Amino acid sequence: MSALLLKKPGKQMNAKCIGELLIKGELFLKGNGIIDAEQEAVLLLSYLLSRERSYIYINRNMPVPSIKIEKFNQWLKMRSGGTPLQYITGFQNFMGLEFAVTKKVLIPRPETELLVEKVIQLIEMFPERKQICLLDIGVGSGVIPITICHYFKDKNKNIDFHAVDISSEAIGLASRNARRLHCQNNIHFFQGNLFQPFRRKEQFGYFDGIISNPPYISKNEWDNLPDEIRLFEPALALLGGEKGIDFYKIIIKEAPEFLKPGGFLALEIGHQQKNIVCRLINDNTNFQEEIKTFRDYYQNDRGIIAFKRASC
Ligand code: GLN
Repeated sequence: MSALLLKKPGKQMNAKCIGELLIKGELFLKGNGIIDAEQEAVLLLSYLLSRERSYIYINRNMPVPSIKIEKFNQWLKMRSGGTPLQYITGFQNFMGLEFAVTKKVLIPRPETELLVEKVIQLIEMFPERKQICLLDIGVGSGVIPITICHYFKDKNKNIDFHAVDISSEAIGLASRNARRLHCQNNIHFFQGNLFQPFRRKEQFGYFDGIISNPPYISKNEWDNLPDEIRLFEPALALLGGEKGIDFYKIIIKEAPEFLKPGGFLALEIGHQQKNIVCRLINDNTNFQEEIKTFRDYYQNDRGIIAFKRASC
């Protein structure tokens, strides 16, 4: 008997097909309180097999190798224990791009896509400007600079991004994401605290825009966050001090020193922080009085854009 024939029946006995795993996964997740059990089972299988979700639906009879089944079972257990899906698969989609994520960085949120869209619109308002110099404070997985650079690729605009994070793990991951998504030549990464790496003006000059989705959860909100966030995502990326505004205070105070005249400051904010953050900006005479604000899909206040005065 040939080796091939000997091997085949064994493999088939161990193998289960996609459809069976899908049902098993859904039932297991549902039984453990996961609300979107079906969607999540499909997503886990699609990452497990490195296939599109549609492939999972269409190929229900396709056998799955036992090593993958073992991994799937592990993933189901992790998910049922509360680990966010993204830390299991290692990826999160953001504006159509796949970003690697680890438990050392915040999982990118759809709300932040709005901030990116607003910044893209701002940049597009000046078609004659071919060279744009931007700074992202608290880069995390790198979603903000990478999606902006990716968008302007081949659009006859040179984006020169600087990105900083206090976490060296975040800087490592964001650099890897930049390379994976072919934006590494546009983004310079720095490990450091807020503006600290950019103090040497002769080296860095001034920025056309500063963007940040800083940690903005207050102490009170933190205590009430779902376990899935509080126990798994890094506090460093979420907690903004007692009232959640510590980082806004520093960024708003220091940003004008690093912005060109007329340059913008675009911030994501918590849904109850519009008034306090607007006040911080209005109290700083280096900013123009007019502030733009925007809401998210749930109609919660989610972002603020302010401009440095043209002469100061
Ligand atoms: N800029 C990253 C994001 O928006 C990380 C933000 C953070 O860690 N607070 O996902």
